This record gives sequence, C-alpha cells and structure tokens, in this order.
Amino acid sequence: MNSGEYQKFEELGLDQWLLKLCWKIDYKEPRPIQVLSIPPLLQGKNVLISSQTGSGKTAAFSFPILQTLSQDPYGIFAIILTANRELAVQIAEQIQIFGASVNLRLALLIGGLSSSKQVKLLGQIPHIIIGTPGRCAELLSIDVNFQKYIKNVKYFILDEVDRLLEPQIWDDIKKVYEQCESPQIALVSATLNNVTQQLKDEFANVNFVECINNPEQKVSETIKHKFVLMPDLVKDYYFIHLMKKLEGASTIVFAPTCRKCHELNELLNHFEIKSTCLHSMLPQHERIGNLRAYRSQKAQVLVATDVASRGLDIPNVKFVINWNVPKVEADYIHRVGRTGRAGRRGTAITMMTQFDVERVLAIENLITLKMEEIKFNEEKVLANMTDVTKAIKTIKIKMQQDGTTEKFIDLQKKKVRSKQKRKGSQEEQQS
Ligand code: AMP
Repeated sequence: MNSGEYQKFEELGLDQWLLKLCWKIDYKEPRPIQVLSIPPLLQGKNVLISSQTGSGKTAAFSFPILQTLSQDPYGIFAIILTANRELAVQIAEQIQIFGASVNLRLALLIGGLSSSKQVKLLGQIPHIIIGTPGRCAELLSIDVNFQKYIKNVKYFILDEVDRLLEPQIWDDIKKVYEQCESPQIALVSATLNNVTQQLKDEFANVNFVECINNPEQKVSETIKHKFVLMPDLVKDYYFIHLMKKLEGASTIVFAPTCRKCHELNELLNHFEIKSTCLHSMLPQHERIGNLRAYRSQKAQVLVATDVASRGLDIPNVKFVINWNVPKVEADYIHRVGRTGRAGRRGTAITMMTQFDVERVLAIENLITLKMEEIKFNEEKVLANMTDVTKAIKTIKIKMQQDGTTEKFIDLQKKKVRSKQKRKGSQEEQQS
C-alpha cells in the first residue's frame, strides 16, 4: 500500500488500520454513500442512510462502529438488528472480516438456532450483537448479562428498517431500544422515502442527519428490466421455457409463497436445472445450507420468497426472475437488487399475466423506467406443455403422499391464526 493511496478513505476520518483493511479487501475508494455516512457517524451523529441496493451501506455503518470500538473497546458496544436471519448471518460474516485485526467478539442472535448457545455467547459480553428483533427481544427478557450490558450500547443500527416497521417486529425493537440509555442511531435501507416521517415520529426526540445518495435513481443503472407477457393459464410452460433459455446462468427466482417456492424448485430439478430453495418454512439449518449451495454455485438457481429479497450480497447473480409481480412496489426494488451489485451487470425479468398490468405500471412509475418486453414464440413455448403438465402432476401427488402439502397448509393456518390474534389484541389495546 503506497502513501497517498486510500487518501479518500483517510479524508473521511478513518484510522490507519481501516485504510489497511480497505487495501486488503480491495476497496480502492469509498462509495458515495460511505462518503456521506462515515463522517457524521464518527462525529457521534444519528443518521438516516439510504442508497441503492448493493451500493456499500454495510461498510458505511460498520467502519465507524469498528473505529470507535477499537479506540475504547467494551461490550456491548453495538447492536445491529435486521429483517431476516440470512441477512444477519451475512452482516456478521462481513463485520468479522472487517474487524479481523481488532479481536472482535460478535454474537449472532437469530431465531431457528439454539438459544442456549446464544445465551453462552452473551455470557462472553460480545462487542457487537447482530440479530433479528424477535430473538433479541426474547433473550433480553431472560438473560441477565444482556439486560446489564445493553444499557451502555453506543450504536443502535436498524438495517432494512422499512421492513422492520411491521407492528409485531417494531414492538420487539422497542423492547430492545428502550433498554439502551443513549445510543447513537443509524436507520438504513434502499427504500426509506415512504417511511422517513414515520421513523422520525417513532424517534421523536432524536435529530437525524440525512445521508441519502441519489434519491431519484431508485435502482442501479447496471440492471436491465424486462418482462414476459403471457396468459395466466400457461404461466408454468413459459416459466420452464424461460429457465431453459438462461443456460447455466446464476439466477434467483422469487415466488409468492413457501409452497409455490417448493413446487417451482421441484419443477426445475425435474427438468435438470440445478436448483435449491429458501423460504421461512424450512428449518434454519436447511436455509443456511441451501443458501450456501447457491452462493458456492453448486446450485444454478435459488427459488425464494421475499425472505431473500433484502440485502443478500451474492456477487455472481446474473438474473432475477419475478415469477409473481410483488404486491408491495418497494419489494420490486429489493428483489431486483440481488443482481447488478457493486457495478456488475444484471437482468430482472418479470412474468406478467393479464392480472398484473396495473402493478407493473405502478412499479415502472416507482423506478421511473419502462420495462422492455421479451417475446417468445408461443408454439415453441407450448411444445413443452405435456412434459410440464405431467411433471407438475407428479410433484403435486408426491407432495400429497409424503405429507408436504399438509405441512404447508398447517403452517399457513398457524400464520393466519397468529395474524388474527395479533390484530385482535391490537384492536383491544386501541379500544
Ligand atoms: P452492500 O451494499 O453493503 O451489501 O455492498 C455491496 C458490495 O459492494 C459488497 O460486495 C461489498 O463488499 C462491496 N463494497 C462496499 N464498499 C466498497 C468499496 N468502497 N469498494 C469496493 N467494493 C465495495
């Protein structure tokens, strides 16, 4: 590393050891969102951080935490809460790399894994906690170390914060936040604009510096946006036709439900397209294993629900396929943001039926871009009709016979019941 190199990082106020780290991990110069966010965070300010998917937000909030931690290390120094377990794992892995030279103690507190092991980690008074709100709130209610040491937390970070605003999740966040005496706050997401006021209201006595990069450009310019139009009845035939055309390219397919995710994954494997899946009804060890298989390119395709739409940083994703048009427009931005990261090129293809026209128009409005149509020769598409129909039948029969369908229905019922219960208790509280 030559003197003079990495000067732009130095100008942000970063210490020598972090400049060396940038050299080691080949960060040649700071990304715009890092230029905006690192100085105020180092100056002790609260920040709202927003920029496109894949634009370097993790380092933007992690570098200041690590720098101040290295100057006065104690536990628990920072809490980072995020929208799903896989994202928490990814942030923990990244911070572990960033902080490798400063003897960092991290605790990953997420659901689906043994809580007794996590309690043990808390016993070692970690410097940084990375977790999901539910598990953190649960452990806080039972663990004395956590209750004692959380008071002096210096940084309180909410990543993918717009996704965390759902009432039950927000209640858990409040339980954690209320135990921290005077933390510095960073609220982070690619899609903040619709919720900025709500966040400011939630943190009524907090002043925020707004670190918002390029608010007009909602999606990375390296992503191409396309659609395929088809009648709903023949969607599966188009899907297989499209997937065969992608010829070995690393692809994420987004599906609307866990069950559909499972079915599409089976369908792809039936047609010898190596696929794996990620959804909330899988046990955590399978979620981690399947994601690892996709990351390491053992599987060409990952079929996922929106659990994979936020934050996941997988450099080689070439295509994002929206098997369904997302109901929430902001989810489109996050889904397609799994490709075209850090300046690479990627393509998003949305499967659009006669029922989706309005929603596609709303998405085009949001991203201020027109999607380009891909036209397939229908005769060629329908040539696979018999094979696809047969395969779907076989998959459905297998799912019935091995109890998978029943499992999905049971879990779905449980979800609906708990939603109704929550709604009931909220209405009770309001009346
Ligand atoms: P993130 O948006 O934080 O998930 O980052 C997206 C990708 O950009 C990750 O692979 C980071 O390692 C990479 N990255 C972040 N900051 C820089 C930088 N200054 N120079 C080069 N790559 C970066």
